This record gives sequence, C-alpha cells and structure tokens, in this order.
Amino acid sequence: MRARGLALKPYWSALQSSIVSGDDRMLFPPFGNFLVLPSVSPLYVPEDAKPSQEDLQAARGVIMSEAQAFAAEIRSAFVANLVEAHNGARTLDSPLEDVDKLMRLVTSAVPCPSGAYCSTSATFPAILDHFKVCSSAALTASSVSTSPMRVLAIQRVLAAVNEVEPGKVDAAKTLTAELYALGNEAFHCEACLPQQAAVGPAAWSNAHSTKMGWTKMVHHLLVRHTMLGQTLPTVIYTPLKPPSDSGDAAATAETASGGFVVEDAES
Ligand SMILES: [Zn+2]
Ligand SMILES: [Zn+2]
Repeated sequence: MRARGLALKPYWSALQSSIVSGDDRMLFPPFGNFLVLPSVSPLYVPEDAKPSQEDLQAARGVIMSEAQAFAAEIRSAFVANLVEAHNGARTLDSPLEDVDKLMRLVTSAVPCPSGAYCSTSATFPAILDHFKVCSSAALTASSVSTSPMRVLAIQRVLAAVNEVEPGKVDAAKTLTAELYALGNEAFHCEACLPQQAAVGPAAWSNAHSTKMGWTKMVHHLLVRHTMLGQTLPTVIYTPLKPPSDSGDAAATAETASGGFVVEDAES
C-alpha cells in the first residue's frame, strides 16, 4: 500500500502545480495529508488499486475541492492561533481588522512543523511550501502555530538589529529571507554571555559558539528565557559587514533556495 501511495506523488505534484495563485498553491495539502483525503484513499488503499490516467482525471474535481477544504481549515486554525498570539503579546494597538496583513508580519513567522530537527521559520503559508520538501508527514490543524512569547522573541531580535542599524528591519516590511541574510552568527544573548565566556575563546568551536542566526536566537529565547515572570534578555546584533558596506554576496548565497535556509539542528 505504501508503494501504491508513493506512486501517486507525481499526480500530487501535477495537481499542485496546476494551481495558479501562489498562496493557494502553498495551501495545497502536503503529500501526507493528500494521501488521507477521502477521495484519494480509493486510489491506493485497495490491494488491487491501479488507477488509470482516466481514473485520475475523473477524481480530480473532488480531490481539488477536498484540498480546498483542507486549505480553509488549516488557514482558519492558524489565523485564530495568530490573533490569540498577537493579542497575548499585546503588540496590536487596535482591534484586528486585516488578517492578511497580520499574517505577513515577520513577527508572525512560525517554525517548521516537522519538529526539532529543522530550525527553519517562515510566515504562513510559505512555511507549508518549505514543509513539503522537509517532511512527508501529515499536518494537523494545530501543527502550524505560534505563541505570544514567540512574537515577543522575534520582536526582541528585530529590536537588536535596529539598535545597531536604525530602521533596518520593520515587522511589516522585512521578510524572513532578509533575517536569514543577516547571517548565522548575527546574534548573541547578553544574559548567557558571561557564563559562556568563562569557557575561554580557545574552547570555541562551532558547536560551542554563542552566536546564532535569527531563528536559533528566537529558539534560544523561548527555551532558555521564558520562565514565569522572566523578561526576555537583551539580544546583541553584530552585522555581517560594516553597515556602510552594502555588498551582499554572502547574503545571496545564504538565501539561494527561495529564502529558506535549513540549518543544522543544534541550538
Ligand atoms: Zn523544515
Ligand atoms: Zn540566553
């Protein structure tokens, strides 16, 4: 059955590529979810299932409407979660009217739902595009989510950048690709610096480096500094190059694959 399911992958790709709108295409179900759509199961679950091109063509309409239902469900679950997170973080001055605008904020970026082995973050629904190449698992409505603390941690990272280069980043305009372009060693945590420095510079290796890219910094703040009543520590930003040098060859290399950088799992 597994082999019969996998044989549907080109069909899944073709259906997905047939969607013209970028956002709608991203919201097309990941392969793991596609396989459990009611109209897809009959194409591979029965032992004698061997759908012809005509069978696949005939199933298309129903599959696309089930895919749309999936998209609507995961989007509305995420929107509810996102509004709650921003309300909890008290970052909105007025009641929320424009959900699309809220989703595009870089403070709305969410971690890849594949789990701890991937530290990629992106806004919704771009994160689904990444997930499709990162994992073959199925998502649940709550797989893609953020929290008030995550919103605040991303804000803390943005503040660190603007502290050094005023106006460089803006929650409403900056893209996650631009945050990745700041480099894998752009940030360190002021609170953790003293005890880490005690190891001595000779002991530094990549594994012990106190410097992190933006998404690891956010993860660090969430894992190490969110005890009850704790306020987030100061984040220190070190530009990749002096602010006056606008050459960005390194930045281009880092964001080569559509702005997503899959970092190693350690953080
Ligand atoms: Zn991932
Ligand atoms: Zn720290």
